[in-house]
Amino acid sequence: MLRKYGINTSANGKRLVLVVDDEQVNREILGFMLSEEYAIIYAENGREALELVRKNKDTLSLIMTDILMPELNGIELVEILQGDPELARIPIIVLTTEREYEVKSLRLGASDFIKKPYDYPEVILARVRRIIELSENKYIIENTETDELTGLYTSQFFFQYAEQFDRHHQDMDMDAVVIDLEHFHYYNELYGRKKGDALIADLSDHIRSFLGDGSGLACRKDGDNFLIYCRHITDADAFIEGLKKTMSDDANVSGIRLIAGIYPFVDRSVDVHTRFDRAKYACNLVKGDSTRTIAVYDKALHEKNLFLLSLSDEMEAALAEGQFVVYYQPKYNIRGQKPVLASAEALIRWIHPDKGMISPGVFIPQFEQNGMIKKIDRFVWRRAAEQINEWRKKFGVTLPVSVNVSRIDIYDPDLISVLSEIVASNGIEAGDLMLEITESAYTEESKRIIEKVNKLRGLGFKIEMDDFGSGYSSLNMLAELPIDVLKIDMLFARNLLTDEKYKRIFKLMIDIAKHISVPVVAEGVEKKEQLDVLHEMGCDIIQGYYFSAPLPPDKFERLIKENIEQC
Ligand code: C2E
Ligand code: CA
Ligand code: CA
Repeated sequence: MLRKYGINTSANGKRLVLVVDDEQVNREILGFMLSEEYAIIYAENGREALELVRKNKDTLSLIMTDILMPELNGIELVEILQGDPELARIPIIVLTTEREYEVKSLRLGASDFIKKPYDYPEVILARVRRIIELSENKYIIENTETDELTGLYTSQFFFQYAEQFDRHHQDMDMDAVVIDLEHFHYYNELYGRKKGDALIADLSDHIRSFLGDGSGLACRKDGDNFLIYCRHITDADAFIEGLKKTMSDDANVSGIRLIAGIYPFVDRSVDVHTRFDRAKYACNLVKGDSTRTIAVYDKALHEKNLFLLSLSDEMEAALAEGQFVVYYQPKYNIRGQKPVLASAEALIRWIHPDKGMISPGVFIPQFEQNGMIKKIDRFVWRRAAEQINEWRKKFGVTLPVSVNVSRIDIYDPDLISVLSEIVASNGIEAGDLMLEITESAYTEESKRIIEKVNKLRGLGFKIEMDDFGSGYSSLNMLAELPIDVLKIDMLFARNLLTDEKYKRIFKLMIDIAKHISVPVVAEGVEKKEQLDVLHEMGCDIIQGYYFSAPLPPDKFERLIKENIEQC
């Protein structure tokens, strides 16, 4: 933050200067020379001066002080001012007749000296102007280069200085490190902002002392990320362990996880931003993986990363060329005697001419990161709406289809208008295009999402909470969420037959859902035994390989026909 000083002036629009001299005539001469341009206050000795400095510390632009004075002399005054971090920023010009004091005062931190008897007023004015300007520039630079809370560089200056660092350390092996505090916002919510800030400041101190003098530099980014550019770290585990230890017990208990991505021995032929993109890419792989804290960007990761980047480059053209197709996986209602086709989930596939079929599990996370998911999702939503319409014309029945809505879409200000237009232009009801929103989106951005979801529901859209149980939502939160269908994460079906714990939680989820009258979908059901257990427990709808894998539209039509024949 830029404090008043630096751009501030006193009430009459002039910068404030304090003149300290025990001789009235000297005070008057200086005052006369400066008063046209500056507002002047006076003190007769060091003690009086100190009081005035403290009182005007935010607005004072300069102190000009004599040396030989009663009570507190000029040298003592300079010493006290320079020793106080709040006052040390105010530049001091020493007024002196003796050489020995000139050197001494400069050594103590004075900015300049002016010899008595005074020279030409223009010369004095010029020196005063120069010192004030220098100190203001220094202050502005210091305060925009560094982050106020941590004292580390701001990211803008960090990248600039990292390049400079390279130029001065051409032969040093360097690492790019990204540190992330997973779930830091929970800590802020639990313990308040002040403690959150203290935690960040402690970690910053640790990083600073690790870097010491000259082995690298660091910055804080986006609140809870640190970027470190430093001499190759030989023992990264020890460094990260050390950092973790600086976190208080509260922090460890509240579920914050300190994770790191390291790009060692950076390739200096790529720019600094790319080096940190690579470290960040490694770091993201550890996110949500409680078995690992550190990921290293190695050759294998590099190749994978290049592959993903190539997918991003090709996406637009591939979309235009029709390489993306939408598959449909059926969901069956198992409440009656026989399972009945109830709806379908639209799942995207990329049929790449050279790379073959690419799974959405590969490209969706990448496109969520760079925002391209919005285009993909809009394409799928439109295709699914058209499909509902086509099937209705062909078979005379409306089969609802659910589409995935990424957490990135929730931020899209046009989300509601886009969905409404898609539904209207295909002549279907909003409720026919169901929206699957993953549970983690609810926990990350609960307020925003609830607002959006309420608006969508108001327009008739049905919301299916996807992957429930995979994130951090608590079961008792369920009752308060605005949802129409609950879809339990695949993990639960997978472990249903082998792990009693999963079975019990599954049952609990079904009971709560029943209590709030929300149907339950189990996904990832592959075996008859799983289906039987789920049927027994009261689950309503089943999706999974047991019935069918996701199918291209022409193959899916067979299921619709079968179903019609059975009814
Ligand atoms: P999801 O939404 O949880 O979708 C279910 C995934 O489980 C699908 O994988 C589906 O093919 C697979 N699956 C279905 N039944 C079974 C089963 O019985 N056993 C097993 N092991 N797997 C089964 P898919 O199609 O590869 O999609 C993966 C994820 O990619 C989806 O998970 C979803 O998060 C994302 N995704 C797919 N299409 C889209 C899309 O159009 N938009 C967005 N935003 N995400 C999409
Ligand atoms: Ca889904
Ligand atoms: Ca799911």
